[in-house]
Amino acid sequence: MSTSSSPSVLTATPGVEALMAFTNTKATAEKGEEWGSPDQLSHWLSQRMGAPEGLALTPADLAAAKELRDALVVSMLHNAGHAVSEEEVARAQDAIAKIGAAHPLTAMPFSPREKLVPLQSGFAAVLGQVVAALTVTTLEERWHRVKACGNPQCKTAFYDRTRNGAGAYCRANPCGTKMAMRSYRQRKASAAAKDASAEA
Ligand SMILES: [Zn+2]
Repeated sequence: MSTSSSPSVLTATPGVEALMAFTNTKATAEKGEEWGSPDQLSHWLSQRMGAPEGLALTPADLAAAKELRDALVVSMLHNAGHAVSEEEVARAQDAIAKIGAAHPLTAMPFSPREKLVPLQSGFAAVLGQVVAALTVTTLEERWHRVKACGNPQCKTAFYDRTRNGAGAYCRANPCGTKMAMRSYRQRKASAAAKDASAEA
């Protein structure tokens, strides 16, 4: 097996920004699904992650990309302190392990340029590099700062730069305000219900 002869798929191991862009392709209250078909995914990968243009993808490839995306979102919600069930965590961890095991990379200690390259080509290499990015940012102690917004209609990925690492909502949308209003109204409603039952 010669890794030097395999086509270079992505120019470099994607960073935190690319991981966030990868997860922000899902539908939210504001916009639709960006990966509606294998062709749309292929186009997105070439536009946003430097994959070669016209990568022929199958429905199974699309499903694998979405499975990895879902797993990353669960991890980002968990990073932000939002409720995720044990079952969701287990499923996400299994998906990450499964995709990682099926898409190996190798270190390139003799190369002045490349550090970590996939042993596969095409879409398999892309998936491998996305999982590798998760590995690298986790090792660098940066992944815990990559979070998903706690507004269930949003779940947009963001990088928490707050000093105390307590960020829980994206800043692009007024989600924090929206969710604070919602919990205020819920508290008020339950207080009103309590008053009503006390009067009865
Ligand atoms: Zn949000």
